[in-house]
Amino acid sequence: MTDLARRLARQIAATGPITLADYMAACLLDPDHGYYTTRPPFGAAGDFVTAPEISQMFGELVALCLAQCWIDRGRPAPAVLAELGPGRGTLMADMLRTLAVVPGARDALAVHMVEAAPALRARQADAIAPARAAWHDHVAALPEAPLFLVANEFLDALPIRQFRRAGAGWQEVMVGLDPEGRLAPGLSPAAPVAVLAHRLADTPEGAVVEFCPALPGIVAEVAGRIARHGGAALFIDYGGWAGTGDTFQAVRAHAVADPFAAPGKADLTAHVDFAAIAAAARAAGAEASAMTPQGVFLERLGIGARAEALARTLSGVARDNHVAAHHRLTHPDGMGQLFKVIAIHPTGTPPPPGLDPLGATRGPA
Ligand code: SAH
Repeated sequence: MTDLARRLARQIAATGPITLADYMAACLLDPDHGYYTTRPPFGAAGDFVTAPEISQMFGELVALCLAQCWIDRGRPAPAVLAELGPGRGTLMADMLRTLAVVPGARDALAVHMVEAAPALRARQADAIAPARAAWHDHVAALPEAPLFLVANEFLDALPIRQFRRAGAGWQEVMVGLDPEGRLAPGLSPAAPVAVLAHRLADTPEGAVVEFCPALPGIVAEVAGRIARHGGAALFIDYGGWAGTGDTFQAVRAHAVADPFAAPGKADLTAHVDFAAIAAAARAAGAEASAMTPQGVFLERLGIGARAEALARTLSGVARDNHVAAHHRLTHPDGMGQLFKVIAIHPTGTPPPPGLDPLGATRGPA
């Protein structure tokens, strides 16, 4: 057992099972034993590789998308360039290098990062040096100003709760102890859950629905600023539109692992519900774009031309790696289809480049 497993087992023995959200929060962000607080999990030597770590083209195109939004908004200054959960800082570093070619952008945009793990803040500072940034614990601390924001694989790290449809109510998946005293999932007695009332219509008996309690508040903070001051936000993650099913997953050393086996040692994630992002954005007075596959988004932004231009500067293994990276980012057998993009933008304006409007009745693109 890990130290964290022992502590959680003692807590559960004393006061009863805990929600999956409380379990995830402890595993990921416990100050002494949390996954993000105690290790650098990214890159080939870490547990997983994210899009900005695969190729600089990802950050370049995201930067140009947000730069176009900034230009369309009338080049506001000062304005905020923000990232949620920047990991190693690679995406922001690529974005800042790209924004240097957009006249006026670097002077107008102050960099703000929302990052919970102190060790990662230090890495991010190194990655973007000599550029400077302000760090915050929570998105609510971002300044009130025009906001140009990106969050890649951030929402999937937020704790979720899981509910299994049981008649007119729901049984919650709780983390308790098995007869040997090991951490194990179980089910609470069925009860109505107000926040899931709208899911009774589309969830079959016995099916699992996931709910991310922190997501609506985070999206509301972002969308409220965009509604008040203008701007655009891009949320990029894997997930779907109001799906069902258990997507709670642990990854350790690039392989799927048991999420209850070694708390604090594996990355825990769940698929992101893009319908919940759109609903929270609209409730906060902004608009959401259609949910668009990452591959489509990057192709519309011109990754093909950029990939060709970069390929001309490369040869041998470097060129092969570059071609593979392009494929992995965009192709359906890589990240192109599983990963989705949604934008938040001011009501009455078109969505950012690469994305379609959401439409009045239609959900996903
Ligand atoms: N965006 C990066 C890293 C994704 S991993 C990339 O694409 O490579 C998730 C990031 O979010 C990590 O930096 C992690 O420390 C941070 N994070 C997770 N939960 C958080 C929370 N509740 N508040 C702020 N940051 C959080």
